[in-house]
Amino acid sequence: MKAMVNIIGAGLAGLSAAVTLAKAGIGCRLFSRQSSERAQSVMAEGGINAALDTMGEGDTTAEHFSDTMKGGVYLADPNAVRGLTEGAPDIVREFVRLGVPFQMKGETLVLRNFGGQKKKRTAYAKSSTGKMLMSALIDECRKYEARGLVMRFPHHDFLSLVTEGGAVTGCAIGDTFTGDRLVFSGPVILSAGGPAGLFSGHTTGTTQNTGDAAATAFFHGVRFANLEFIQYHPTTVGISGKRMLISEAARGEGGRLFIERNGRPWYFMEEKYPELKNLMPRDVVSREIYAVCRDPECGGQAYLDMTHLSDDTWRGKLSDLREECIHFLGIDPAAEHLPVEPGIHYFMGGIWVDERHRTNIKNLLAAGECACQYHGANRLGGNSLLGAVYGGKTAAETLSREILSAPGYMEGFEHAPAGEPTVLSGNERDPAFERRLTDILMEGLGIVRSEEGMSLCIERIEALLKEDGMSDRMKARASLGLAMAKSAIMRRESRGSHFRRDCPERDDENYKKTSTAVCIDGRVITEYLDIPPLRETV
Ligand SMILES: Cc1cc2nc3c(=O)[nH]c(=O)nc-3n(C[C@H](O)[C@H](O)[C@H](O)COP(=O)(O)OP(=O)(O)OC[C@H]3O[C@@H](n4cnc5c(N)ncnc54)[C@H](O)[C@@H]3O)c2cc1C
Repeated sequence: MKAMVNIIGAGLAGLSAAVTLAKAGIGCRLFSRQSSERAQSVMAEGGINAALDTMGEGDTTAEHFSDTMKGGVYLADPNAVRGLTEGAPDIVREFVRLGVPFQMKGETLVLRNFGGQKKKRTAYAKSSTGKMLMSALIDECRKYEARGLVMRFPHHDFLSLVTEGGAVTGCAIGDTFTGDRLVFSGPVILSAGGPAGLFSGHTTGTTQNTGDAAATAFFHGVRFANLEFIQYHPTTVGISGKRMLISEAARGEGGRLFIERNGRPWYFMEEKYPELKNLMPRDVVSREIYAVCRDPECGGQAYLDMTHLSDDTWRGKLSDLREECIHFLGIDPAAEHLPVEPGIHYFMGGIWVDERHRTNIKNLLAAGECACQYHGANRLGGNSLLGAVYGGKTAAETLSREILSAPGYMEGFEHAPAGEPTVLSGNERDPAFERRLTDILMEGLGIVRSEEGMSLCIERIEALLKEDGMSDRMKARASLGLAMAKSAIMRRESRGSHFRRDCPERDDENYKKTSTAVCIDGRVITEYLDIPPLRETV
C-alpha cells in the first residue's frame, strides 16, 4: 500500500492542505462525508479578511493582528495569529490569481467592513465568497488529481484513528455507498469542520458536520481546547429545523438593528455603542439582542432594517442575500424589516493544536473549524475562511517539512497499520438520543450562562452516560458535550462568547488561559494551559 497523507474533510481547510501537499510533491487522500461542493465552506457569504489596504485607510497586518487578539479577548496564541494575519494578504492575492471574482473597482480589490474591525479588510465575491474560494481550490485539486498527487474519496466517513505506540499510523474509513470498511496508513490531518450536529436545529452550520469526527477523536484521547467558546451570530432566522444566517455583510453595508420600545423603533446598538454601532463583535451584539428582547418595555422581537440601502448596494453586494430572503423566508429585505435572533454559528474551541497545527498525538494534525486556533474567546467575521485556508496550509507545510527532512518518514507507513482500528460501536445514528443531548447542552450553554444551569447540564449528561444501551458512538458524543460544559463551568469569569450571569466580569489574573479537555478511559479531565508569549520577530 502506497503511503500517503490522509486528510479527513474536504472543505476549505482540507482542500488547502491537499493543494499545499501536492505542490510539495507529496501525495494525499482526501476523504469527506459529502463532496467538496457541498461542504459548509460553500455556505460562507460575507468574506475573507486580509489587511490589503486597498481602501486608502492605512490598514496594516499589525492592526489585523491586534483586532484579532482583541476580538478573541487575548486567548489566542499570539504567534499563530501573527502568522495568520501576516499570511493573509498573500492568501487573498493567490485567490485573485486563481480567478476568484472578488468585488473590484477598476483594478482595485474592494474591501468591506466587518464586525469588530475598524478598517475595511474583508474581501468578498457578492454573497458567495465561500463558494468561489471552494471552486478555485477544487479546480486546483483536480489539477493535482490528474497527476496522481491527490485522490478524492467523497462519501467516505471517518471511523477512527489507527494508533501504534501512542502515534497515529493511519485511519479507518467507511464507504457510505458500499458499507465497506477500509484502513489506510499514513499521517492524518483532521479537517472535518465544527461539531454543528451537536446543536442541530440551533445552528447555521451544516448538519453533515454531525460532530462524530470530533467526538471520535476526543474519545480516543485527542486533546481539545477552549470548548466553552461557542459563537452565537446575532442575526439568524429559524427555518426548517435550522437557523438561516443573515450575514454580517448586511450590517457591514449599513443594516441597522432595532426593537420597538414604547411604540417607536429603538436603534439600541447605535445608542449604546456610538463608535462601532451595529458592527460591535458578535458576542456583544448577540447579548444585546438577548437583553432587549427580554426588556418589558420592548416588543420582544428584534429586527434588522435594510430598507434604506441603495439599489446599487443590493445589486452589487447583497443580491444573493436578498434572493435567499425572498426565496426561503418570503420577506424582501429591501422593503420589509427582517425579524432576527441569535443562533449558534461557530465553534472557537476544538482540537488543540500548536502553532504548527500539531495535536497532542504524533502524526495527527488538525485544521479548520474542527481545530482550536486563531480565534480565542471569539472569532471575528471573515477570519474563519482565512483560518481554514491558512491552517490547512500550515498543517500541510508542517508535515511536508517533516516528511522531506526525514528520509524514510513515509516509508515507515508503508506496511498496513498493525492491529484492528478501534472503531466505535454503534455507528448508526440515533436521532432521539441526539435530540436529548442537544436539549441538555442548549440549557447549559446558551448566550447567558449560570453556575446552576451548567451544573444541571453536567449532571444530566453524566446521568445519560450511565444509561443502559449507550453505544460507544453515543458515549463519545455525550463525552464531548460533557467536556464543553465542564470547560464552561470551570471558567468563573465572562470573556468573549462565554458570558456568566453569576461572574459577569473578565478575570485576567486567573483565566487568561487556554482551557483543555481530554477523555481518558471514558473520564473527561479538564485543565488550563498558559498562553505562549509573543516571540520577538527575527
Ligand atoms: C452560513 C455560514 C456563513 C459563513 N460565512 C462566513 C464568512 O463570510 N466568512 C468567514 O470567514 N467564515 C464564515 N463562516 C464560517 C466558515 O464557513 C467555516 O468556519 C469554514 O468554512 C470551515 O471550513 P472547514 O474546512 O474547517 O470545514 P467545512 O467546510 O465544514 O468542511 C468539513 C468537511 O468535513 C467533512 N466531514 C464532516 N464530518 C465528517 C466525517 N465524520 N467523516 C468524513 N468527513 C466528514 C465534510 O463533508 C466536509 O467536507 C460561515 C459559516 C456558515 C455556517
